Amino acid sequence: MIAEMVRDFGTRHIKPHMMTWDEEQIFPIALFRQLGDLGLMGVLVPQEYGGAGFGYLEYITAIAEISRIDGSIGLSVAAHNSLCTNHILMFGNEAQKRHYLPPLASGQSIGAWGLTEPNTGSDAGNMRTVAVRDGDYFVINGTKNFITHGKSGQVAVVIVRTGAVGDSRGMTAFVVEKGTPGFSAGKKENKLGMRASETAELIFSDCRVHRSQMLGNEGEGFIQAMKVLDGGRISIASLALGIAMGAFEAALRYSKERHQFNQPISKFQGIAFKLADMATKIEAAKLLTYRAGDLKNRGREVSKESAMAKLFASEVAVEVSNDCVQIFGGYGYTKDFPAEKYYRDAKLCTIGEGTSEIQKLVISRAILR
Ligand SMILES: Cc1cc2nc3c(=O)[nH]c(=O)nc-3n(C[C@H](O)[C@H](O)[C@H](O)COP(=O)(O)OP(=O)(O)OC[C@H]3O[C@@H](n4cnc5c(N)ncnc54)[C@H](O)[C@@H]3O)c2cc1C
Repeated sequence: MIAEMVRDFGTRHIKPHMMTWDEEQIFPIALFRQLGDLGLMGVLVPQEYGGAGFGYLEYITAIAEISRIDGSIGLSVAAHNSLCTNHILMFGNEAQKRHYLPPLASGQSIGAWGLTEPNTGSDAGNMRTVAVRDGDYFVINGTKNFITHGKSGQVAVVIVRTGAVGDSRGMTAFVVEKGTPGFSAGKKENKLGMRASETAELIFSDCRVHRSQMLGNEGEGFIQAMKVLDGGRISIASLALGIAMGAFEAALRYSKERHQFNQPISKFQGIAFKLADMATKIEAAKLLTYRAGDLKNRGREVSKESAMAKLFASEVAVEVSNDCVQIFGGYGYTKDFPAEKYYRDAKLCTIGEGTSEIQKLVISRAILR
């Protein structure tokens, strides 16, 4: 039912506009309010806080189905749900959850989550943005970059340094609202793909935040962020899965329609075998992703499994969308067909929420423990 609902919504409200949003880098805020009405902005949030109260299997289905149509909308929905909203859900106190979750879950408020900085991406533990205590307040200074919804987000969860550089217990998470003096958005990135998903800097300049805005306890920020990413990576695997499914279906359809040498190109073994490989890889990515989601639903440790799902599904998305362009031939290189967009969007999946190399670091550490 969720898949059908998302497909129907996407066909009516995303598909007709997605190339304009892509070309003009428009972040369609109104669409996210509509997605909120469908429960897709608070998928994992319990109903008592205004969410849909679903688990990871429904969440994977929703993200994959959105991304099958448009990866950049899938990325924004994933970042909003898994990062900002889920961080507050997992580590916020009751008052914070009651205040922030209902508007986030309804899509009235868009969430951002800031870990990455210009000089520390994979090496986030070496971040420099700092919060210095001043009585009941913390004064934040520094810059976060590549932040999804950095400009349009009304609420941002940021992880900043409150202790020594390099100390994993020296970082703390705060929730900061748009309009707080000293908190502003910086440059919006002009990107290869995922162009309807807004990516921008967050700038903190003597930004005073009351200690009641702290999520959990001082010094827990980095550990919280790693736990948030364990779940977030399942959503990036779902995003990759959806892009791969969309690219595969477009290629399959086209291979039956396009004739060369007096027959559909699907009759050539070179094309048919490519389609067979694409379908097999997608099936494997799907199984890994749903398995990670199932473990997460059962409250099990998922660092390794979510990293495996994210690593595999995102590399599959890149390979399948590359094959899709190839099957479309010259038309795949034009904007008249969806192949080139899948190809551009897919690449983000091997970078965001930890690159493929960082997933291998997580997996190898777990198996060598
Ligand atoms: C569209 C988009 C949206 C994003 N949204 C968010 C967001 O909402 N919030 C947020 O906090 N961040 C966000 N990011 C940032 C993203 O998580 C980082 O870009 C990513 O973690 C990589 O960091 P980096 O770009 O600094 O690359 P670097 O860390 O500089 O990596 C460069 C290369 O070196 C490799 N490398 C680094 N360390 C190692 C190692 N130990 N072993 C092997 N290879 C290594 C990497 O794999 C990569 O190939 C977003 C990024 C993009 C592009």
